Amino acid sequence: MLHDTMAESTGLQLELSEEMRMLQELARDFARKEILPRADEYDRSGEWPWDIFHKAREVGLVNMNIPEEYGGLGANVLEECLVAEELAYACSGIQTALMLNQLAVLPLLLAGSDEQKKRYFPRLVDEGKIMSYCMTEPDAGSDVAGIKTTATRKGDSYILNGAKTWITDAPVASFFTVFAKTDPEGGHKGMSCFIVERDYPGVSVSKPLEKMGQHAAQAAMVFFEEVEVPASNLVGREGDGFMLAMQVFDRSRPPVAAAATGVARRALDEAVKYAGERTAFGQPIAQFQGVGFMLADMRIRVEAARALAWKAAWLADQGRRNTLEAAIAKAFCADAAMQNTLDAVQVFGGNGYSREYPVEKLMRDAKIYQIYEGTTQIQKAIIVRELYRDARRGSQ
Ligand SMILES: Cc1cc2nc3c(=O)[nH]c(=O)nc-3n(C[C@H](O)[C@H](O)[C@H](O)COP(=O)(O)OP(=O)(O)OC[C@H]3O[C@@H](n4cnc5c(N)ncnc54)[C@H](O)[C@@H]3O)c2cc1C
Repeated sequence: MLHDTMAESTGLQLELSEEMRMLQELARDFARKEILPRADEYDRSGEWPWDIFHKAREVGLVNMNIPEEYGGLGANVLEECLVAEELAYACSGIQTALMLNQLAVLPLLLAGSDEQKKRYFPRLVDEGKIMSYCMTEPDAGSDVAGIKTTATRKGDSYILNGAKTWITDAPVASFFTVFAKTDPEGGHKGMSCFIVERDYPGVSVSKPLEKMGQHAAQAAMVFFEEVEVPASNLVGREGDGFMLAMQVFDRSRPPVAAAATGVARRALDEAVKYAGERTAFGQPIAQFQGVGFMLADMRIRVEAARALAWKAAWLADQGRRNTLEAAIAKAFCADAAMQNTLDAVQVFGGNGYSREYPVEKLMRDAKIYQIYEGTTQIQKAIIVRELYRDARRGSQ
């Protein structure tokens, strides 16, 4: 396990262990050699990056959170963050495509049976299969409890009916973790989670949806029409789906926040380089305070974003409640990515608006962080709820 050797601390410790630094270095090196040179190509083609996925699999940068006993690395959330930031620095579309398995397996990690893990994890790790996470529906995104897909018990099976949308990696997925209502009248307590195989009769996937950014991370609709799912594919207990989804968010949001930090950092680096080279009125534009202060603000955001993502991850790894910190990190890092990429385009002037320069893509890619894994407004709603929870306890 990677994190076993993390140094013992007697006080506040803001340093990564040697193993974590090595993992970060591995990811940085991989990102610069294998992802960065291909980012523009995949952005234009919208193909799913199979070749990069298999290379990343060889060096252990995908399926990281699957436990060692099932062939994975057994990485903790902080380690996922380190890799997410580095890969997203190079291309957040490719990074999202590659890391999706780590989101989709979370329900199994949290509540799956040993038999389910043995049945599915080796197919991801050894066979290189893809799993997608199916929550959102055409009429229910933020309102998770409002999903309409049903799972009706029939003997030893459940019959699934419904439609999911914006499902990342669905066009290439072999398996899906699907949330459905086992008790449509039961509100959030009527929701359950299932593993559904793409080959089951009645499962179909739309063409990739056309979207603004992160083109390599194809997303599609997934339809379930009288799909017979064995009862042994129920993850956890019937009715636990909503609770499970909330637990998933606490672990999935820190790596998403870290990926957004990677985009914010990339925007900063591009802007610093350009502003140091581009001259106007006889001097590098970085020397104009209006530009220099923009760069300084970008640097501040990267530093704060990383600290927030890491703290939310670290709390999860300590087995501590991190709902508030994960929401804070997700909201802040998403805004940091958006603002830094907007500012980078501004620093580049007309060239920032051109597809010939990298920052236009960064800006398109960044927007999604304010939307998926819970919108920024939803993160703020969680923060408000947590404020009053803490206030009732007398502390902030
Ligand atoms: C590229 C992409 C990839 C995605 N990948 C996946 C995936 O793999 N799996 C998956 O399940 N989903 C995925 N999603 C879906 C994503 O999680 C949802 O789009 C998101 O949660 C928002 O839901 P919605 O689109 O239905 O918007 P809505 O819920 O309709 O929200 C619309 C607007 O209303 C605001 N709003 C809604 N409720 C409130 C509230 N209570 N308070 C304040 N404001 C509110 C929102 O913040 C937003 O601004 C993906 C989406 C995209 C675009």
